[in-house]
Amino acid sequence: METNEFRQTDTVFAPSTAIGGAIAVVRVSGPDTQAIAHALLKRELVPRMLTHTPICENGILLDEAMAVFFARPNSYTGEDMLELHCHGGMQTVRRISDALLRLGARPAEGGEFTKRAFLNGKMDLIQAEAVMDVINAQAEASLRSALFQLGGGISQDVCAIETHLMDARASVEAMIDYPDEMEADVLSVLPNTLDDLLGKLDALIENGYHARVLRDGLRVVILGRPNVGKSSLFNTLLGESRAIVTDAAGTTRDVLDERILLNGVGVRLMDTAGLRKAADEAESIGIDRARQAQRTADLTLVVLDGSESLTDEDAAILSETEGRNRIVLSNKSDLGVCAAADLAVSCKTGEGLAELKERIGSFANPSLADTTYLTNIRHIRALERARDALRQARFQAEPDCIATELREAAHQIGTITGSDVDEQLLDRIFENFCVGK
Ligand code: GDP
Repeated sequence: METNEFRQTDTVFAPSTAIGGAIAVVRVSGPDTQAIAHALLKRELVPRMLTHTPICENGILLDEAMAVFFARPNSYTGEDMLELHCHGGMQTVRRISDALLRLGARPAEGGEFTKRAFLNGKMDLIQAEAVMDVINAQAEASLRSALFQLGGGISQDVCAIETHLMDARASVEAMIDYPDEMEADVLSVLPNTLDDLLGKLDALIENGYHARVLRDGLRVVILGRPNVGKSSLFNTLLGESRAIVTDAAGTTRDVLDERILLNGVGVRLMDTAGLRKAADEAESIGIDRARQAQRTADLTLVVLDGSESLTDEDAAILSETEGRNRIVLSNKSDLGVCAAADLAVSCKTGEGLAELKERIGSFANPSLADTTYLTNIRHIRALERARDALRQARFQAEPDCIATELREAAHQIGTITGSDVDEQLLDRIFENFCVGK
């Protein structure tokens, strides 16, 4: 895609700070920015110099503010940009927004500044999407990963794959045009080239799954029959009383879901109703959700009651979670310990809990934060589709069919780097951004 295909001709504005702060930043970007700055500030601004200035419209003072002008292409969007750092509060921002509307600017859509930055070649699509990840990062590790992508770290890897793919495609297409001269040569190297590309895609996809853990949190499910202490464990890990703890079996009816930080890694902790035969309808809904939570979990904590011997229900849960990422806990170690467990803990005395937190954190593999990977689910899906196409290409004998699959793979990679995107896809990507970014 030629990026200037969608070049914007209008000027947009948006408050870029959340309502309620002491200062509100209103951003303006587009071809009329300089004229708008002149109309409101009645002075020439030296580019990139923060200037104390009144903001007036038709002689009426709107605010005393700080203003900074960025001349294109040296701005975030690559267009002329103005930032007004005015007093916070709804009224000031509303009055300035109204004045900007009257001067011909329109309110920016979500992510429109970043979209313009992409369209003007200031950043590639991976970097643009990383902007949102930086804003949304919930854990230190996911912030580090997003900043790495923002800096262009991952783009190089994906662009290298794209280039190799283009080369392979070009040689297959040349072979179709000149079969006599080229077929033997191209077919002799093609399998190696495709295997090499498949290996690189595999690595990116695999790392992507780990990265998802960094971004969305390690999904940890607590399982066990009633009364073993699941809710107590959930609360203890959470450090607050969120789940209701009672002595009556089966009180946790639904799946409780909380986010916590363990060793800098986000954890989504889920307490379940336990896998037991439903006594009533409400509980059976809870149990369905428990099973679903268990299926999508990255790690299961199986809780046994150390004060009692193993029951059939415990055995069933142990066999159901066999072979998964799990830690088997013997709770109530103040009363007794089950030999079948990996770790003895007590929610009452706190025994074993520090060790448990450490073990949970180790499943998130935070060391990955320093390597290259894509965290964006859209990117990972596109990589998977590219990999499917390459696998097809690998087993095709017909040059035309190989070329078709390579084209598809290249298209999928292009939707990641931004070299092959249409406006609809861009709109879908940027509509999830907040306004003002
Ligand atoms: P759940 O049904 O599995 O969620 O179990 P709860 O968390 O509601 O706990 C059941 C009972 O066991 C409650 O009375 C808790 O106070 C008690 N309990 C939980 N953990 C411990 C522990 O480590 N030691 C002892 N002695 N009692 C515990």
